[in-house]
Amino acid sequence: ETFEDMCLEHSIMKDIAFHQYTTPTPIQAQAMPVALSGRDLLGCAETGSGKTAAFSIPMIQHCLAQPSIRHGDGPLAVVLAPTRELAQQIEKEVKAFSRSLNSFRTAIVVGGTNIGEQRSELRAGVEVVVATPGRFIDHLQQGNSSLTRVSYVVLDEADRMLDMGFEPQIREVMKNLPKKHQTLLFSATMPEEIEALAQEYLSDPIRVKV
Ligand code: AMP
Repeated sequence: ETFEDMCLEHSIMKDIAFHQYTTPTPIQAQAMPVALSGRDLLGCAETGSGKTAAFSIPMIQHCLAQPSIRHGDGPLAVVLAPTRELAQQIEKEVKAFSRSLNSFRTAIVVGGTNIGEQRSELRAGVEVVVATPGRFIDHLQQGNSSLTRVSYVVLDEADRMLDMGFEPQIREVMKNLPKKHQTLLFSATMPEEIEALAQEYLSDPIRVKV
């Protein structure tokens, strides 16, 4: 499968070309058609495989199909990641593939940074939030963001998030999502705890392994 086969929006194709991604990596070739079809996905892939674009490009395309975000609305998509560094890398990739779009906003919500700035950004309304679980829960509890419009969720490096003790925060997000949503879970390893999480929160997922 090529990027041309995936029926992506013109602006996204332009950004893919701009970043000189000519051929999808194996995880992209397998996961992107699944993500674009709206199905849940359980992906076994490591950093360096190109998994970030594999979930980010379909996420942007998904957001474009939703009614616009108004001031005060919560995000359409949420990516949870274990560390601030990974969240920053993911946000960079999301920005890379939405640079040709008119107003596509992403907020990065991680610990150790100014919570007030994040608050005003979130309250103004963004399409995508890339977050570490603890800080995102803080904002939800403070009413700075909400899950009411979220219909695309990514749990990235889920095994690392569990290792770091983020399971309660992940569950808090997953159990409060609107009924109709799509979930993509990526993990480098598939221990029992990840299988259990997938069993509980993914609906009839397609499994992809690279
Ligand atoms: P990731 O596994 O998502 O952290 O990506 C690893 C690196 O591969 C990043 O620097 C990406 O920019 C790059 N990359 C991802 N997909 C492609 C692609 N299809 N063609 C060329 N580079 C890519």
